[in-house]
Amino acid sequence: MIDTRMKTEIEYLAELIQQADAIVVGAGSGLSSAAGYNHYHWMPAIESYLQEFKEYYQFTSPFAGFYYCYSSLEQQWAYYAKYIYSMWHLPTGQPYLDLQAILADKDCFVLTTNVDGQCRRVFPQERLCEYQGNMGYFQCSQPCHEHIYENRDAVEAMNRALQGMVLPTHLLPRCPACGRIMVPWVRDDTFLEGTAWQEGVARYHAFLRHWLMEQTGKKLLLLELGVGEMTPSIIKLPFWQLTAQNENVFYACLNQKDSHAPEHLKGKSLYLQGDLAETLSRLRQKLCKTGSVSR
Ligand SMILES: [Zn+2]
Repeated sequence: MIDTRMKTEIEYLAELIQQADAIVVGAGSGLSSAAGYNHYHWMPAIESYLQEFKEYYQFTSPFAGFYYCYSSLEQQWAYYAKYIYSMWHLPTGQPYLDLQAILADKDCFVLTTNVDGQCRRVFPQERLCEYQGNMGYFQCSQPCHEHIYENRDAVEAMNRALQGMVLPTHLLPRCPACGRIMVPWVRDDTFLEGTAWQEGVARYHAFLRHWLMEQTGKKLLLLELGVGEMTPSIIKLPFWQLTAQNENVFYACLNQKDSHAPEHLKGKSLYLQGDLAETLSRLRQKLCKTGSVSR
């Protein structure tokens, strides 16, 4: 349900997007949840791939299965193989497609904490920083070297060979350099902040530097989408700081849950509570009508 207050806020946000010279999107888990890809609670799309594991191990969420302490690598990797396979195969979420259309004509950059690869479907890598990694890649668990490896072919082969909830030992992914087990390239205590990660962060900083320091008087919109409370230090707090410190920066926060702007950002911020899928769909329609987004 969209109330009249929200309609007005969507119109306001549409204007902010139209007027912005550049936009930085901060995409959190709420954006994938809005697409039906919730990793913290079971929802049908992902569950359909992992049903057997959910029932056998009584996992409370997809991530619970990811962090579970399995009694063998073969069992652990059977789950990983299925989980990662789901990420390669699930279609691009509608909110991501709407976001792509909304930003089609804009100079934009996307900073995300999502590891499910959805952002990569709709934004080119040079416009993207995957701060917490991406499940579609493996790294050495040591890690002994900097390289990350796209895992689609390996994951397809694993899925073909699965014996129930066990992966045959010879298909466990091994580091080509040291022979240790590989792990998905996502944030944990051995996360590889190597070349790929550093380049992503450097691209993000270069984009900010360009619009805040090299261009003067240009309007930068920070668009925060579905960022939770768990890791505020990556998107939310830096966005607040950038808004407070720069005259031409405006902060828009879209989230399912109600939240409020810090006192010092009043007048430079917009908070829009509601279903993110619905909001982005409405926003896309609004911008299409005004001719600034091609259908
Ligand atoms: Zn290694």
